[in-house]
Amino acid sequence: MELLNRLHQQLQALDDKQLIRKRRTVDSPCGPRVTVDGRELLAFCSNDYLGLANHRKIKLALQEGAAIYGVGSGASHLISGHGRAHAMLEERLAQFVGDQLEAPRAISFCTGYMANLAVIAGLTAHDRDAEIFSEELNHASLIDGARLARVKTHVYPHADLPALETLLKASHAATKVVVTDSVFSMDGNLAPLPRLLALCEQYGAWLVVDDAHGFGTLGANGHGALEHFNLRSPYLVYMGTLGKAAGVGGAFVAAHETVIETLIQKARPYIFTTAAAPAMAHALLTSLDLLEGDEGATRRAHLQALVAQWNHGLRLQRWRRLPSATAIQPVIIGDNAETMRAGAALFEQGLWVGAIRPPTVAPGSARLRVTLSAGHTRQDVSTLITALNALERT
Ligand SMILES: *Cc1c(COP(=O)(O)O)cnc(C)c1O
Repeated sequence: MELLNRLHQQLQALDDKQLIRKRRTVDSPCGPRVTVDGRELLAFCSNDYLGLANHRKIKLALQEGAAIYGVGSGASHLISGHGRAHAMLEERLAQFVGDQLEAPRAISFCTGYMANLAVIAGLTAHDRDAEIFSEELNHASLIDGARLARVKTHVYPHADLPALETLLKASHAATKVVVTDSVFSMDGNLAPLPRLLALCEQYGAWLVVDDAHGFGTLGANGHGALEHFNLRSPYLVYMGTLGKAAGVGGAFVAAHETVIETLIQKARPYIFTTAAAPAMAHALLTSLDLLEGDEGATRRAHLQALVAQWNHGLRLQRWRRLPSATAIQPVIIGDNAETMRAGAALFEQGLWVGAIRPPTVAPGSARLRVTLSAGHTRQDVSTLITALNALERT
């Protein structure tokens, strides 16, 4: 059949370029040690930065949530799917990041991908002449959000504030939306949020901050990148995900109450989808308590100690580290095939590290993406450092 043939040829072309991706089926809960095909591996590839994905208290809360609320929500939020648990979660989230916002309110989503589609499309829905200013290294969901918005989009070079300012100055749009990751997901570095916010305030633009990798890990109380930089502004629109450091799943947007009301009324990725299981929202209330309490602080401190250990211990010659103070620690290898070989060699030794190729990263910058977690021990991190230092020399 001709249609199938075309698909087959495309897959073959991917395979020829070492770009076929394979899924591995994990038989254990997410954690530093996972079982894959009957083998126990030490894993450095999840985004479970604080080791909460298999936390006893959150698991109990999820069970309790199912006992109280049942399983499915049954409908979208605007029909009948918005339950008490969702409402409580949204209030708690607004309070969680509220010190950084004016008139804070939050809205919850099934995934961060959908939250990003919703926030960009929602902020521009009333203005066909709106313009989006998107950082070059933004996550795919932000790029897709700009596509869904169907308004003019400028991409500014990574962390290049003068270039962004030139674009903002030249724009006559009444609605300007600057969009950035806070922690770049494949590089681990932080966006210059204070200077970005100053530009947005100067030129009257929204600043949408995707804090998928900062929420729970950054800031003294785990409130995220805005707390880390001590920012506060009515121009801020904050997106946090709840399936990474928070250990559960879902996402939220927090901003001025008028922004949130706009999303409820206008954002199609919010309106036309079934609400998440209320038990998830119930479990997240426990997760947020842990993040804000002593346990969160202890886990963040341990994670920081592991990041420091990593930065001191790795001695690369050919391969290249990128400067990162977060749990995301890339090792740039460059060539796709060599990156895959390095990933496979580590896997043989029982070490599971993500091998990232284009189009997730720029061509020629294939890498191992090491993610550290508070669930790791110092010994775990030493094991990986020793293996990588040796592997690079072979
Ligand atoms: C993971 C991620 C998302 C998507 O969040 P999900 O809840 O996994 O859909 C969005 N933005 C960034 C930067 C991410 O890393």
